[in-house]
Amino acid sequence: MSIEIECMACGRESLLKREPRYEGFKKVGETLTCASCGHEYASEEEVPFKQKAAPKVFDASDAPRTIKVFRENEAETLCRHCKHFVVNPFLQRCGKHGRIVEATDSCRDFEKKVLPKI
Ligand SMILES: [Zn+2]
Repeated sequence: MSIEIECMACGRESLLKREPRYEGFKKVGETLTCASCGHEYASEEEVPFKQKAAPKVFDASDAPRTIKVFRENEAETLCRHCKHFVVNPFLQRCGKHGRIVEATDSCRDFEKKVLPKI
């Protein structure tokens, strides 16, 4: 797996080259260099790793406008209002059934999520 960096020497998005460093036949560490300009980083802490941007689940442009068509009692059992509904950047799932669900699914085992008081 290649590791993406934003090199501070050449300013480009590049890849980190990781090569073992030997003293005689003994491995003494690793050489960390920028694949595009060859700048060497002294240690892992100095490497400007590229931040992984979390994929957006959705943005305003594709939020359904039809959400209002749900009747009140239907809307109340939507998975997104359920305490078993688990959201992470990649998928939404039901913690109770261990399956992938949509926020707009509803479920007979619906249990209303109680929002913590702040
Ligand atoms: Zn570079």
